[in-house]
Amino acid sequence: MKTNRDWEKLVRRMELLMRLKSFPVAFKLMEKKEALSEIPFMRQMTHKVTLCQLITIVRTFDWTVGAVAGDFISPMCPSIVGLTDLPEVFKDGTFRSIVWAKTRKDGQKYENSIPRLPAGRYQAVALAPLVYNPFDPDIVLIYANPAQMMLLINSLQFEDYQVMEFYCVGESSCSDAIARCYLTQKPSLSIPCYGERRYGHAQDEELVMALPAGMMDKALKGMEALYKRGIRYPISYAGAELDVTQAFPMSYSGMKQIEEIRGKDNRILLGVTGGIASGKTTVARMLKDLGAPIIDFDLLSRLVVEPEKAAWKEIVAFFGEQVLLDNRTLDRKKLSEIVFRDPEKRKKLESFIHPRIHDEFTRQFKEFTTKDPNVIIQVIVPLLLEANLQHLFHKILLVYIPEEMQVERLMERDQISREMAANILKAQWPIEGKKEYADFIVDNSGSLGETKKQVEEIWKNLIALQKEKPGE
Ligand code: ATP
Repeated sequence: MKTNRDWEKLVRRMELLMRLKSFPVAFKLMEKKEALSEIPFMRQMTHKVTLCQLITIVRTFDWTVGAVAGDFISPMCPSIVGLTDLPEVFKDGTFRSIVWAKTRKDGQKYENSIPRLPAGRYQAVALAPLVYNPFDPDIVLIYANPAQMMLLINSLQFEDYQVMEFYCVGESSCSDAIARCYLTQKPSLSIPCYGERRYGHAQDEELVMALPAGMMDKALKGMEALYKRGIRYPISYAGAELDVTQAFPMSYSGMKQIEEIRGKDNRILLGVTGGIASGKTTVARMLKDLGAPIIDFDLLSRLVVEPEKAAWKEIVAFFGEQVLLDNRTLDRKKLSEIVFRDPEKRKKLESFIHPRIHDEFTRQFKEFTTKDPNVIIQVIVPLLLEANLQHLFHKILLVYIPEEMQVERLMERDQISREMAANILKAQWPIEGKKEYADFIVDNSGSLGETKKQVEEIWKNLIALQKEKPGE
């Protein structure tokens, strides 16, 4: 069977990030049973089965399996995935009342709550490890412990947030997960039921999520983004008996700092960012003419490492005099070569510089806000988004030009080759991806006059915003 994509890279990465114990399962329903024979390595069991047996065979034996309605022990499993109808003895609640429900009435209520696909829509079901690209799956089943599952939920919620709905009819996790996922076209999370534990060998600690195959990319993208922000599995414990303030991420411990920066007066801190050579300085000059003073992180990063300043002393003590030029200023090229090869040294260097930049930033904005509590300060931070600093600002302004124009302007301004300009660009996020974070976008691809008009409009917006802002 021809498949439309190669899942291997995605699955391997997800297995690694989640430390999955069993294969993600590709699941497909087929309108014609003959399609089963087109799938490589397809096996149909020679005895009757349950659907959860097939799932566990795939995720732990890594077999590719398929079944038609008649292959199942009872109509229960195939009726959930639209392979057959349910006999009257199920529909009227009798079957459920044998074990799981007190009366036939309770049984009927139970039975009616089970999500099912329309009877007879499909003739066959196929399951296989997704990593082998067996066919184009409709949905994917992932089994994981609650901590791993939480990571998957967080990852799916990273972009276009939606509440994760959990569903549990009781004794029928394949309907909770699989049928519900087909019906809603959303991820469906459940707890494997008794039957799935007894026959499908789901482990005590396992949960199951079915997700539309098309959402696997979203899940991995979110997981990668969270990984970069330090959210990983296994979760490292911070120490139940200790004061864990030190282990708190910026998002908690930094709240005070954020409040201090954002203030309770009418100040507005506008984070100005863009790509290299997109025109941040150009736009900032225009905003300055309108009345917004500038704090420039590029300048701050140079200021704090001037000879004899605290950061400079720490850098020289750690890296040695080899990182100094004849005039005792830092040899930035040499330093960046050293830390490029050694991430630990990079961390060390950042630990000398970043707190000082922060101190200087605080000092400068305090100076501005003391003078004028209604000030609109523009803070130019070239890698604002890459460094995940957006929470520090009331609003984000992106100075945008298309990537190709970035290359051209960079080549012209710095007199460098196209190849070099393209390489510099590679170290930053693509500018297109930055748009969604911005509150204001200045398109600087036209004339300076056109840019100025946009900047003036944004300035008006900022003033209006300030009027609405209740000075606390
Ligand atoms: P960097 O990322 O290196 O700090 P930047 O984002 O501050 O750069 P600028 O220095 O403002 O960008 O602009 C980059 C180059 O593009 C400069 O040579 C500037 O004169 C030119 N430039 C800026 N805006 C325009 C425009 N609208 N039309 C033509 N050239 C422009």
